[in-house]
Amino acid sequence: MFTADAHCDTLYEIALCHTAPEQCVVTAERLAAGSVGLQTFALFAGKHGTQGTAYQDGLDMLAAVPRLGIPVLTGDLPADPPAVPTGILSCEGGEMLEGSLNRFDEFMAKARLRMIALTWNFENEIGYPAVGGEKKGLKPFGFELVRAMDAAGVRADVSHLNEAGFWDLMDKAELAPIASHSDCRWLCDVPRNLTRDQVRALIERKGFIGINFYSDFLRANGTATLDDVVRHIDQICELGGEHILGFGSDFDGIERWPEGLANPADFPTVLDALRRRGYSETTLEGIAGLNLWRVLKESER
Ligand SMILES: [Zn+2]
Repeated sequence: MFTADAHCDTLYEIALCHTAPEQCVVTAERLAAGSVGLQTFALFAGKHGTQGTAYQDGLDMLAAVPRLGIPVLTGDLPADPPAVPTGILSCEGGEMLEGSLNRFDEFMAKARLRMIALTWNFENEIGYPAVGGEKKGLKPFGFELVRAMDAAGVRADVSHLNEAGFWDLMDKAELAPIASHSDCRWLCDVPRNLTRDQVRALIERKGFIGINFYSDFLRANGTATLDDVVRHIDQICELGGEHILGFGSDFDGIERWPEGLANPADFPTVLDALRRRGYSETTLEGIAGLNLWRVLKESER
């Protein structure tokens, strides 16, 4: 079954942490073993906010793309979902753009970003992170950037963004925003997860939510299990979200994962668990990959 993943940090591992590609969690072999036809690789802005070297790091991560060992699409998507592991690129942490639309154009020309997480865990030129609880919304450059992203067919990714920024986006973004790697806050109360109202808004706008496999976002205590992943999926589906739901594994960016769900080869295990719970094949195809594929294709119109 065609499977797609909306987020991993493998390029950061390779380019900035100098991990050998074959030592990463996401490898060409494991993607193939998990039937992953589409893997989103994030250019991660790093852990120093606007004080870091996010722009240069972004270029270094782009230079590492050939080392992934799979084709990475930097032009339009093909008509149909890829049958073999194929990459696309995103940005995690808008400080990489240094408050400049020229930088945005540059990354679009070189990488054809499909989504931009407007913030990581720090304030930047665009807005404020979920962590820290800042109540202010997007900054003027944030609104400017969102207009440019709408025109270029790039989704705003709310996964690390604060709530005020989220609602600004819901108001102003033409393309429905997405949450590439976040879970349900009412099941696990961490700022990186989405509230019920946020999930409802994403459903209403036909955006996308990628379930994050980070154990600490799935359950408050102990190591998460496959059941926890299923629980988060169940809850979003109960709110009517089966058409906007998928995976945002966060592999290579997380230190703890659910038992039995350690790398991309394990995606079918989740789908099997959902199948046993009675999910239809059509719903499973959507969650596995077609829901993400839909928003990506719609962005190109
Ligand atoms: Zn993240």
